Amino acid sequence: MAISLDFSSQGPKFVRPEILQHPQIPGPLSGMNPRTIFGKTWWDNTRRAAYRANHFYCHACGGAPDDDPYKSKLEAHECYEVDWKTSTATYLKTAALCYRCHSFIHAGRLRMLVERGHKKATELVAVLRRGYDLLQAQDPPLYPFWRTYVIYLEYVEKVMPRVAVSRARDLRLVDPFSTIHPPDDHWTLVVYGVTYRRDKSGNVKAKAGNLPTLGGNG
Ligand SMILES: [Zn+2]
Ligand SMILES: [Zn+2]
Repeated sequence: MAISLDFSSQGPKFVRPEILQHPQIPGPLSGMNPRTIFGKTWWDNTRRAAYRANHFYCHACGGAPDDDPYKSKLEAHECYEVDWKTSTATYLKTAALCYRCHSFIHAGRLRMLVERGHKKATELVAVLRRGYDLLQAQDPPLYPFWRTYVIYLEYVEKVMPRVAVSRARDLRLVDPFSTIHPPDDHWTLVVYGVTYRRDKSGNVKAKAGNLPTLGGNG
């Protein structure tokens, strides 16, 4: 029996809008991720497996990337569980997302690009509105990560930053930084059970005696 590799007529296997609730990764962890630790080959294999897993549709909205007005290409997003009390991010897996869903999760980065003049504010507003509406359409309605929600209020609802933060708190989308005060420079990344930290010169190092195994058990 012939096996068809043409997924175009199959549609997505699953839709997981809750991916849009993913936290924005704390600043100290930027540039410290599995793709930089394991390198290009690992990353290419991992992201391609993520694309195939949902027949080349977005894992969050189930949309075809061709329908995205800004970028008609799937992107890969590293999913983490973030523990704000211990300043630890644990890599879970990589998801394939359309540009708008991915930009919604990284709203802080998109806002920075708007403020530097590299992207239009209309794009940020459209991305935030769409992601928020997708979450609210769930039963029960879902809310984005608090920081994404604050940016949403600031740009889409045009409320003052302070009002935005207090509204996010009213919904119990509490800013973990304001309540926990983590040791900001000492974030730890855990990938396949191995702990990584930055040394004094900023290089990412696996904890001694705990060396990585490529591919691992993930
Ligand atoms: Zn999507
Ligand atoms: Zn991402």
